[in-house]
Amino acid sequence: MSRNEQARIGVSLLRHRLLLPLATGLGYYLGAVLGVAASSMSEGIAIFWLPNGILLAALLLVPRREWPLHLAMAVLAEIAADLPTFTLAQALGFAAVNLFECLLAAWLLQRIARPFALDRLRHVAAFGLVLIFASGLAALLGAAIYSLSIPTATPYWDFWLIWWLGDSLGVLLVTPLLLSWLQGPHRPVVRYRLEAVALLAVTLLLAVWIFSAVAHVTDDFPRRAFLLMPLPFWAAARFGVRGAAGIGLLIAAIAITASLQGLGPLIAATPADTALLLQEYLAVLVFPSLALAALLQELRDRNERLRVRERAIEAINDGVVILDARLPDSPVVYANPAFGAMKGRRAVELLERLLREGAAPGDAEHAALHDALRQGLPARTLLHDVHADGTESWNELRIAAVRDAHGQITHYVAIQHDMTEVKRSEAELRAAHDELDRLNRELEARVEARTQELQWANQRLEELASIDSLTGASNRRHFLEQARIEMSRAKRQGLPLSVIMLDIDFFKSVNDRFGHETGDRVLVALAASIHGTLRSADIFARLGGEEFILMLPGQDLPDAVRMAERLRLLIAGMVVAGCPVTVSAGVAGLENESDEIDALLRRADRGLYQAKNQGRNRVCVWQATAQDGPGSDDASGGTA
Ligand code: GH3
Ligand code: MG
Ligand code: MG
Repeated sequence: MSRNEQARIGVSLLRHRLLLPLATGLGYYLGAVLGVAASSMSEGIAIFWLPNGILLAALLLVPRREWPLHLAMAVLAEIAADLPTFTLAQALGFAAVNLFECLLAAWLLQRIARPFALDRLRHVAAFGLVLIFASGLAALLGAAIYSLSIPTATPYWDFWLIWWLGDSLGVLLVTPLLLSWLQGPHRPVVRYRLEAVALLAVTLLLAVWIFSAVAHVTDDFPRRAFLLMPLPFWAAARFGVRGAAGIGLLIAAIAITASLQGLGPLIAATPADTALLLQEYLAVLVFPSLALAALLQELRDRNERLRVRERAIEAINDGVVILDARLPDSPVVYANPAFGAMKGRRAVELLERLLREGAAPGDAEHAALHDALRQGLPARTLLHDVHADGTESWNELRIAAVRDAHGQITHYVAIQHDMTEVKRSEAELRAAHDELDRLNRELEARVEARTQELQWANQRLEELASIDSLTGASNRRHFLEQARIEMSRAKRQGLPLSVIMLDIDFFKSVNDRFGHETGDRVLVALAASIHGTLRSADIFARLGGEEFILMLPGQDLPDAVRMAERLRLLIAGMVVAGCPVTVSAGVAGLENESDEIDALLRRADRGLYQAKNQGRNRVCVWQATAQDGPGSDDASGGTA
């Protein structure tokens, strides 16, 4: 730790831990010396005991954990101040009584408010009562110490009375002054410097003039002393608790000094009576001015709060109207600027009508509103207006009742909130939503139509991909797909199946003699004729060139041979564009479970080959010879 840091910690320790308690001790000591000097009685009892006021102020200002140090300083100060006059035992006794009084008062006051401040009238009242109680109790002990330890003719209760009044007066004069000076937040007290100087000067001059007069002991009321009465009030009104306490202390100093010297209007027959008169006079002078200062402070605070709230009500965008429910017809007593600017005087008319006449028969919504108003319950309604210029306005109206201390409804506060924009936005949003819905439906319909078109196009594409464009028969690829399916179905179901392979005879020479176009027409006519003979289950395809194939599910070999023969004869009778046509055909049937499409077609092809070889325009069935194994190509054919 550096030297600087050590020094800084030392200083802060001194300031926070020691300086304040030292100040308390010093203040206590000076107050005690003054008090002892200002004792009017031979026994040394003080008529005006300031130290307790200082100690009480310290206890109210510092945290409780710091109390012990302040109390210790007070004990030391008490001993130091008392020893010239009293024994150590007496000094310790007095210290104990004073500490007891201050602790009791501080504890009680902090039960009322923590931190305790004299800025409320009820705090001042509590302060007075606690002061009377705590110092009255302490005075019982203090007076006992006097009576028991000092030989005196003065009765116990006289001691008690002087101690009691002296202590409470000391606290009354000093504590408010210290609290108001040292408690934050600090308000600028001397707002009017000249006035403050004038007040001080007038107080000083008047007090010195009144209290420097040579005393005449009479039983008359000391009228002249009360000429000073307005000054603490002036101070209270203009300078708050600080002003009242300050002026009170100044007058007290002058009055006590003068009275101790036998001057002024408060001199009585005996010193004890003088002390009492002085104490009563100062209490009467100071206490009401403190109360007034606190009351004014309270009112000022409340006014400030109200001013802020009033400004908020003025600045708000919502309309605020206040109706006085105590007056006939509940008239409007306040309307904020926003309400004035709003379209819709209707709100007030509605409220006035409801409060005057109630709701119209059958008007359930307003009947409910009326009930709520009568019972003082929060109420709400929505006002819709169509104005002369055709515009619409929507306003939400909320109503709250204000009750007095007895629960009677005194006012209604109505708050009007413009909902026109919200309603408009809502309508726009709804319209936008509907439009979006419509567009969505339209889009869905379009997507649906497009999907349908695509499906059709796909179907067409598939058809195109599977159909021979010249003859309309299936193409080779499609035939093989379908043929495989039919074959496995036939094998699965154990049904017969056969194929007929057809090839036009000498077609090359047709092309050569009649031209390629005629050749095409022959192909188309032939396909059309074959189509005409088919059953729905049959599959007809152009394998390529002038070669066609038929698959006949459910037909066995003999059926197929008959069919082929029918076709051959049909075609042999055809003449297309002057051109006679014949075909040769090879027929094969499904033989067993292990038969495959390739083998089936090969057998048909071989039949066809045989038909060609044997002179064309005929139907042949190729059959495996006995020595051929399954799948062998070496076979002999037979003509149908
Ligand atoms: P065969 O009796 O032995 O079957 O004799 P062919 O002349 O019919 O047989 P070849 O295989 O020698 O000739 C087939 C001819 O078919 C050759 C070709 O010009 C003709 N051809 C193939 N496809 C078409 C077609 O789409 N249109 C036309 N007009 N002719 C075709
Ligand atoms: Mg051919
Ligand atoms: Mg041919």
